[in-house]
Amino acid sequence: MKLMELLKSAGLAAKSSPADANTIRVALNKLCGTDVYATSITALEGAVLALAKEADQKRLIALSANPSNKVLNQFSGQSRQVDRDGTTLTLRVCPVDAGNAKVLRQVLPYTAPTIIGLKTSVGMGDRLGLATPGHLKAVDGTGLVPFVAQQSIREMTRTQRTPQQVMDDASWGVFQAGWRDGFGSDADHLKTTEDIDVTAAAGFTMFTVDPSEHVDNAAGRDDITTLRAKYEKLPWVDLGKTAHSCRTDYLAGPFAIEGIGAWQIKEEELLRAACKYGRAIAYTVRLARHLDKVKGEGNYEIEMSVDETDSPTTPVEHFYVANELKCMGVKFSSLAPRFIGRFEKGVDYQGDLAEFERQFAQHAAIARHVGPYKISIHSGSDKFLIYPIAAKYTQGLVHLKTAGTSYLEAIRVIARKDPALFREIMQFAIDRYETDKASYHVSAELSKVTPLKDVSDAELETYLDDFHARQVLHVTFGSVLTTKRPDGSYLFRDRLYSDLRKFEADYDDVLCKHLGKHVRPFLKK
Ligand code: ZN
Repeated sequence: MKLMELLKSAGLAAKSSPADANTIRVALNKLCGTDVYATSITALEGAVLALAKEADQKRLIALSANPSNKVLNQFSGQSRQVDRDGTTLTLRVCPVDAGNAKVLRQVLPYTAPTIIGLKTSVGMGDRLGLATPGHLKAVDGTGLVPFVAQQSIREMTRTQRTPQQVMDDASWGVFQAGWRDGFGSDADHLKTTEDIDVTAAAGFTMFTVDPSEHVDNAAGRDDITTLRAKYEKLPWVDLGKTAHSCRTDYLAGPFAIEGIGAWQIKEEELLRAACKYGRAIAYTVRLARHLDKVKGEGNYEIEMSVDETDSPTTPVEHFYVANELKCMGVKFSSLAPRFIGRFEKGVDYQGDLAEFERQFAQHAAIARHVGPYKISIHSGSDKFLIYPIAAKYTQGLVHLKTAGTSYLEAIRVIARKDPALFREIMQFAIDRYETDKASYHVSAELSKVTPLKDVSDAELETYLDDFHARQVLHVTFGSVLTTKRPDGSYLFRDRLYSDLRKFEADYDDVLCKHLGKHVRPFLKK
């Protein structure tokens, strides 16, 4: 279909073939004097919509033969008349701001997130707001559902972005890529009702509740007398049980769990599980009730995550947590245990892989038995050793969560295209590492990072493939993105964004390649 035909389409037109889209792109470029993304071209109710690049900025363009076209007029922007084959058309050039993002999600619902449920999915956090097109390329054709709007409160604080900006960047990215297959949005690691309020207002649909401050890690080591005393003092009213009924529920007889067999929980195991996670469960229930009020029951999905705690979640503890949440009516779609071994940021799994597999098989069996719900793997970037195990035992009931690795791929583009800037960023990251690593699970040692003076420009990319340098770059993203000079200008932010906009295709390609490696082990055979 050509441009003039597309302008006559009623409803939402089917996606043009790549060849047609390219012909239309050329026509639009001529009319608008911009550089249109062919994949973004969409026609709706007599208006053609597309995303275009104008110097360093992106613009939404809306074109219609009818100056009072309803779709076109909902967007705010500058209108002018243009001529196409003797027909006068109205062209509106619109900024990609929050108001227009809101309209975009209303008129093109595929640019708004949806509830994903139990579909196999991958979380693709984007700290820069530029990664969505590359992320979508990585999942295209795989059947996995991408969560392209995904940031934790900590990430947003460190990058000085708001939940609304994260959501809007994802919507524009989805529009640019012409992705119509749906996506999820994950307000990650929420710890308070205020965290829920700001992310719900921005339109997030999945809420990852993190009650880790209410987890009693000492319960893993306490003696039996201490455990018994702690157990009696749990907030039983909030847990909807009594100390006695909880014992009866778990100790009465073996549970028959497919994949585990007859499972008899011992008193000490129950006490440890309840003392460690009881208060965290009560807190999760509280946040879930708050979500019911804010979003309305059934209008959101929820994940419970305890991955950022000191001690691993044993299968018995996982069973107890999931079962209690279910008893309290929390309909969670995924749960993130803290697995054994080390899930450090940006690098592969460290630990006993055979023991990981043995326990993971039980976690997956519990998720099927109590749920079904998905096992969520946090800090899932670059954990190539465990993907085959996770894929094998979950059989698709899995959510893989990644974030930092996409920032590192952006830095890879800088290493390739702007060596001078990369050197500045790397040196800055080295200087910041000891301070910035505080809240992360990392073990990189600065003494093992090759000094920059010993590395040629052509070899700079090797920093991205080195365990120590990766972690140093990984945990310093907030400082890199937000540090300012004494005159108030950004030290790196503007130059970094300018490069990534200029080398957009390169960023898409490295993301597609790298995230593709994450996704592939989860494809259905
Ligand atoms: Zn996490």
